[in-house]
Amino acid sequence: MHAITGSGWVELITGSMFSGKTEELLRRLRRAEIAGQEVAVFKPAIDDRYGETTIGSHNGRQWEATVVDNEGDGVWQMLDDLNGEQVVAIDEANFFSEELVAVCEALAADGRRVIVSGTDQTFRAEPFTPVPQLMALAEYVDKLQAICTVCGEPATRNQRLIDGEPAHVDDPTIMVGAEESYEARCRNCHTLRSD
Ligand SMILES: [Zn+2]
Repeated sequence: MHAITGSGWVELITGSMFSGKTEELLRRLRRAEIAGQEVAVFKPAIDDRYGETTIGSHNGRQWEATVVDNEGDGVWQMLDDLNGEQVVAIDEANFFSEELVAVCEALAADGRRVIVSGTDQTFRAEPFTPVPQLMALAEYVDKLQAICTVCGEPATRNQRLIDGEPAHVDDPTIMVGAEESYEARCRNCHTLRSD
């Protein structure tokens, strides 16, 4: 990743669940930290928890993150929380309102490096706002693949399972506190219940 001289920019890391997005985000943050750059990390308050938390990947790496309101204009809180950091990382971008797009644009216009991570598809395999908008506006996009748990092909879709069965097409896009699980699946193995 090379710097665009004299201005900020937006980097998006996307793909299905279990594709290593957060791991890649943390790798980039670690390199910035080694270079002595100040880093701020944010994640959405999807289950009404606020304050400090950590983002971590499955290999045990962690980073302190500030939890911000993910609904409506709440995402602008990020700008108030910043304290001159050059690098701003935002994890789980798909859980934020569409205002996240304007926030990222404002941060980049302010000369900051903005690193955003989030899945680009809902469990229905539809574009997951606001990630597709960020894909269009970002200077850099990396779309990672997982491995399909059914057939072993590269996976780009999020298979939601309820009690081990495919979720219903009419289920809400974001389920909070539900007894659900997810698998990475390819186009052929991804299924929805519609009866
Ligand atoms: Zn498959």
